[in-house]
Amino acid sequence: MKNTEKILGIPVDVIELDAMMEEVPNYLRKSKKMLLTSINPQILLMAKKDKEVQEYLLTSTHPFPDGIGIIKVSKWTGGAIKHRVAGIDVMMELLKIATRLEQSVFLFGAHPDIVRKAVENIKNDYKGIKIAGYIDGYTTKTDAEIVQIINESQAKILFVALGSPRQEKWLLKHYNQLNSVIFQNVGGSFDVLSGEVKRAPQWVIQLNLEWLYRSLSNPKRFHRILQLPVFVVEALFWKIRHRDE
Ligand code: UDP
Repeated sequence: MKNTEKILGIPVDVIELDAMMEEVPNYLRKSKKMLLTSINPQILLMAKKDKEVQEYLLTSTHPFPDGIGIIKVSKWTGGAIKHRVAGIDVMMELLKIATRLEQSVFLFGAHPDIVRKAVENIKNDYKGIKIAGYIDGYTTKTDAEIVQIINESQAKILFVALGSPRQEKWLLKHYNQLNSVIFQNVGGSFDVLSGEVKRAPQWVIQLNLEWLYRSLSNPKRFHRILQLPVFVVEALFWKIRHRDE
């Protein structure tokens, strides 16, 4: 049985990056779908109001703790989640595994120039990686066409970067029609891999302040700063009401 902890009613894995990545080859070998999902305060607040987001989080095979708010709530309520697993680190590990095991990847999402640059950089940084294809997130193609293109590419690993909650809803609707095995909602990771957006400096990451850095450096994310206290209060009350879960 895997170890999970409920935060705002959603089970979150008590897991670290290495342990989660060790499972990837098994899923690939058995062609068993693996849905790796970043769990952060914003997505948990969305899930409270949006049944589709909630369903995706509950369907996800690997909901991992990607947000310092999650770690803090776990700590303050005597939980066992100790470390953040950043979505971008998961994606980079998957790229390594894809290269090593010769499994192809597909990138869906982000602006056309961004996803193209991300693909170029990935090809340079992960020598020999097979990129089965990519589609930007502003395409006029229908979902049925996108699913067909991905399936025809025979990609085993699919990264979806459409922003939240669009990427989660898209995955919920389509992962069963797709022949890929590993799925990840990656938010702004293509922007980082393209080189257009810089990740926070290492010392900021180590101080657990990457969320603050990202919110301050992108006005579109500024409201997230205000969401954090809302999340913490709601999550603590949830724990009080559901002491035994
Ligand atoms: N994005 C997209 N299509 C859309 C909306 C967003 O491809 O309709 C892309 C956007 O260009 C970016 C990524 O999704 O590369 C993440 O967007 P954002 O930072 O807004 O999402 P969040 O990190 O808040 O989930």
